[in-house]
Amino acid sequence: MNPESILADITPLAPDLRQRTQEVSRLLELSQSAAKRERGPSGAWDVATGQGIVFSAPHEVTHFRDGVEKTAEQGTGPLALALARYTGGIGITTAAEQDGDPNWDIDNPYIERVDNLAASSPTIDLHMMRPRGVDVCIGLGPVPLLTQGLWPVFVEEAAAAGLRVSLNWPFWAGPRSVTGQLQARGRKAIQLELTWECFDPAHLAMARSWSFLARAARRLARMRTSSA
Ligand SMILES: [Zn+2]
Repeated sequence: MNPESILADITPLAPDLRQRTQEVSRLLELSQSAAKRERGPSGAWDVATGQGIVFSAPHEVTHFRDGVEKTAEQGTGPLALALARYTGGIGITTAAEQDGDPNWDIDNPYIERVDNLAASSPTIDLHMMRPRGVDVCIGLGPVPLLTQGLWPVFVEEAAAAGLRVSLNWPFWAGPRSVTGQLQARGRKAIQLELTWECFDPAHLAMARSWSFLARAARRLARMRTSSA
């Protein structure tokens, strides 16, 4: 692939790299604490307990989609747990080993657990994708109405950080995704796909993406506290 733009070409609206680097360090620190291991019938998961928004990473470890082994999206789990701790929210990530794919199997026990943890709070479902020219893809799922008030915060903060952000392309969060299944249950849920460059400490995308998520997550958590 020969993209027409590279990240360094983009002028962030809020180019405060020093503060962003500090936010990344804080998240990295928070990502390292031990979480509570739980075991379900299709595999294990780690939970960081809190209140409010749920940050989920269903693909942190190797999983099986219709029996075919799929690559782990390593780094999404620690990020979900860190964002939960950063905002006092709830984090959940799959742990080895998984029999199936929570982002594909209807009513996978992971979905049940997220649904139960989320109650009336929104879920932010984190994934990793290959670079295609956008750094962040926000999937609104089959019921976009249930992402109201969520996606604009992520778009604003991503643009402020100097990231290329898209809605529903290349991934829209179909009916079998964690987002789609939660929405089918009437839950507020949104899918965020980040390129693997966003997890590479040597790449400019990491400071921009982790800090944008820290800021968006904090904004959402505060909005919820002030409207409660
Ligand atoms: Zn994924």
